[in-house]
Amino acid sequence: MAFSKVPGKEDLYVGGIFALRKPETFLEKNFTSVLSVIKYSFAGWGEEANRFQHMSIDIDDMDDQDLLVHLSSAVRFIERGLYPPVAPDESTSGQKQRVDIINAGPQSSPGSVYVHCAMGKSRSVSCVVAYLLWKHPHRFGGKQTASSTASTAQRRKSAADAVEKAVKWVREGRPIAEPNPGFMRQLELWWEMGCPVDHDGAVESHPIYQKWLYETKLKEARDLGMAPEADWIRFVDEEAETEKNEPKPEVPEEPKGELRCKKCRRILATSKFVVEHQGTGNKGSSNAPCPHIFIETLSWMRPALEDGALDGRLNCPNAKCGATVGRFAWQGFKCACREWICPAFSLNRGRVDEVDIRRGVLGIRNPPGRNGSL
Ligand SMILES: [Zn+2]
Ligand SMILES: [Zn+2]
Repeated sequence: MAFSKVPGKEDLYVGGIFALRKPETFLEKNFTSVLSVIKYSFAGWGEEANRFQHMSIDIDDMDDQDLLVHLSSAVRFIERGLYPPVAPDESTSGQKQRVDIINAGPQSSPGSVYVHCAMGKSRSVSCVVAYLLWKHPHRFGGKQTASSTASTAQRRKSAADAVEKAVKWVREGRPIAEPNPGFMRQLELWWEMGCPVDHDGAVESHPIYQKWLYETKLKEARDLGMAPEADWIRFVDEEAETEKNEPKPEVPEEPKGELRCKKCRRILATSKFVVEHQGTGNKGSSNAPCPHIFIETLSWMRPALEDGALDGRLNCPNAKCGATVGRFAWQGFKCACREWICPAFSLNRGRVDEVDIRRGVLGIRNPPGRNGSL
C-alpha cells in the first residue's frame, strides 16, 4: 500500500518513503506537489523533480519533536498544491480554467498532493490531519476559536474529540494512520488555536503555542533536575502587558479579588493570576481550606528566581517589609488537598489577606460553596 487516498474530494494522498523508490511509478501519478515530513531530497531525480513542487520538513517521529510550529506552512503548502493560485498574467485563461473546474463538479481538486514520511503512519498523517481540521472543521465538530466561551477543560475535550475524528477519517483510507501521542496533543493545540494559516509563522506567534513551548522547556529543565534559565522565565503579569493586542487564549476574567501581604498590605496577586486547583475555593468541602494559594509566575518573584534555585522562599517585594509570604518549587509539590501542582508558586494562606474588591471588604472570605472566593 504505497499511496493511500485521503477520503474526500481533494486529490490528497498519504504514504511512506517506499512510494518514492521507483521514480517512474511515482511520476505516473502526476502529483503536482510533494510534502516530505522527513528530511528528503529529490536531487538525484534530475529534471523529473521539476514536475512537482516540493517541501521538506526535517523532523523525527518522536513525542517531543515540535511539529506544531511547522503546521501553518505545511497546511498552506498542501492547500496551494491542491488549489494552485491563478497567476495574474494568466488571469483570462485562469478564469476559464476555474469555470472548467467548477463544471467538473466536486469530484477532485485541480492539483494533487502527496504527503509522506517514512512509514506513512505518524508524521505525514499528522500534517494531513492538520489540513483536514483547517479545511473541513465542520466534519469534526465545528470551528474552534480562541475566543470561545468554553472553559479550558471543555476546549481540551472538544479538541481531543475533533483530532480523534480526523485521524479516524484518514484511517478510512490508510488503516495504519496513527500519529504519536506527542503529535496528537500538538494537533489538539492546533485545533484550539483555530488552525492559524494567515502566514507561515502563524503558529509560532500564537500565544497558545508560546505557552506550550514554555511548558515544554520547563519540563525539559525539570527532567534534568534544573531550574529554568533566568532569562527565559516567563512572568505572566509582564506578558499581560505586552500581549494586549494579541488574541487572548483565555476569556478575560473580571478581577474579583486581591491577595495582599498581611504585614504591609502590598498587593501580591490579583485573582486572575490565581492558579485554580481543587482546593482553591474550598468549594463544597467541609475540610479546612488549603494552606496554599497557588499563583502564576509574577515579576516580583524575579529576585528569588534569578539565582537558578530549584526551590526556595518567596518574600514580600516591598523592600521595607520583606516578610516571607510563600514558597516556590520548579519541580512542584503536593498541596494538603493531595493535588500535585507543578511548577508551584504558593502564597501561604496565613500570611496573606484575601480582599474581595467587589464588596470592598478586607480580609473576609466567602464561606465554602459560594462563588467568588479567591
Ligand atoms: Zn509585605
Ligand atoms: Zn490544595
